[in-house]
Amino acid sequence: MRDRPVEERIKDFDEVDRGLSLEEAMAEAERCLQCKKPMCVSGCPIGIDIPEFVRAVAEGEIDEAARIIEAANMLPAICGRVCPQEVQCEGECVLGRKEAPLAIGQLERFVADEMRRKARPVPKCKPPTGKSVAVIGSGPAGIVAASELARAGHHVTIFESLHEPGGVLMYGIPSFRLPKEIVREEVSRVLALGVDLRLNHLAGRSVTLEELRQFDAVFIATGAGLPRFLGIDGENLCGVYSANEFLTRVNLMHADRFPEYDTPVKRGARVAVIGGGNVAMDAARVSIRLGSKVYLIYRRREEDLPARKAEIERAREEGVEFITCANPVRIIGDEWVNGIECVRMEMCELDKSGRPVPRTIEGSRFMLDVDAVIVAIGQGPNPLFAGMIPDLRRGKEGTIEVDGDGQSSVPKFFAAGDITTGAATVILAMGAAKKAAASLDRMLSGDEATA
Ligand SMILES: Cc1cc2nc3c(=O)[nH]c(=O)nc-3n(C[C@H](O)[C@H](O)[C@H](O)COP(=O)(O)OP(=O)(O)OC[C@H]3O[C@@H](n4cnc5c(N)ncnc54)[C@H](O)[C@@H]3O)c2cc1C
Repeated sequence: MRDRPVEERIKDFDEVDRGLSLEEAMAEAERCLQCKKPMCVSGCPIGIDIPEFVRAVAEGEIDEAARIIEAANMLPAICGRVCPQEVQCEGECVLGRKEAPLAIGQLERFVADEMRRKARPVPKCKPPTGKSVAVIGSGPAGIVAASELARAGHHVTIFESLHEPGGVLMYGIPSFRLPKEIVREEVSRVLALGVDLRLNHLAGRSVTLEELRQFDAVFIATGAGLPRFLGIDGENLCGVYSANEFLTRVNLMHADRFPEYDTPVKRGARVAVIGGGNVAMDAARVSIRLGSKVYLIYRRREEDLPARKAEIERAREEGVEFITCANPVRIIGDEWVNGIECVRMEMCELDKSGRPVPRTIEGSRFMLDVDAVIVAIGQGPNPLFAGMIPDLRRGKEGTIEVDGDGQSSVPKFFAAGDITTGAATVILAMGAAKKAAASLDRMLSGDEATA
């Protein structure tokens, strides 16, 4: 087992998975069949040459492996940790038909971590083109777009509303899954390409649309950070958080170290986390580390939980109590939360996605004594900036509509990541940003009459 022991890891926010040693990485890499038609590559949204980098690891050529990975991916230490490889590259690995698929994510992480220990030259950029691009948002989509456009020779300025770059990588994903110094290092490698970063700049407010129109193009990567709520009584009580607020308070504002930092959060409480996705698992496991008793309430069955299997397993090992087939109907309290009322659910016919539709069982109400409730039932696109751009075509729930190349309905305005898809994954945001940046580059280089 590479994971740190449970009793040790629930006391801190240090990384849980310890990663591979050189010997383990080389042995794992030797399992690769070097398929003539590597399905793993087609399963990777950013097209890393997986067989080639794995071959280099098997031969102990870690610098070469890093060169191959970085040609396609400027954020390998991040992707090696948080990508859902089991449904992407590893999901396609032919070894998986008979035994465990090749641990591609772990190998990518190993190579990236080895390289972090060395001074490396910054990748070369093309000569300056004299064109300028404003990138709005510094999550994975914005960072990848900035890196691709800077390497193409354009001058890039990122505007980020928060006081640290990284988007969800920084404020959402807890450090026991993704240490923050890794995000800082990978982002600073992109900044070293000559990218300007303006923190505490909210596009649409502190930097206006008119100012942004002065750039030759605008790349919108504002993500999906708008939390959804349950719409039930008691949701405005003190002690009810959206998962985004709760995680931001801890990850970005160090609420776990209150009063050293001035943002508080409930500690040692009885907490109900509502939801069953990765965000719910993160909120539950953070609460465990704050000394709380944690109930995770999910309306479908255990086998329907949408979170990654490994994260469900870790949450369970760490003491999260799962209450499945249950749905909250009321949060109870005076000023502060002191309980949550739920109903039991039964599973009925399958919906379009093949999941059973949950239906309330009459007379099944039950109560849980809790002091805090964290709502983790999904996020929608950030509406502020997109909502201010005249003629910008918007899709379901406020996403920005783009063509296959990331071009929006407004000339010179491109978009990628969660703002175009709704809440998705890091690698999908990166893949879309890479494609959109290539198309923006073609437009700026005058190869295409897009504008
Ligand atoms: C708690 C949590 C855990 C997750 N875990 C995983 C995981 O393990 N694996 C995985 O693949 N995916 C995971 N995801 C999803 C993944 O993080 C997102 O799909 C990804 O970050 C989307 O990237 P993005 O760049 O589009 O948006 P974001 O990462 O949301 O970045 C958007 C950035 O834009 C900034 N911004 C917004 N509006 C403005 C404005 N008007 N002006 C300036 N800046 C602005 C925001 O502050 C933010 O920094 C998780 C999500 C959450 C919330």
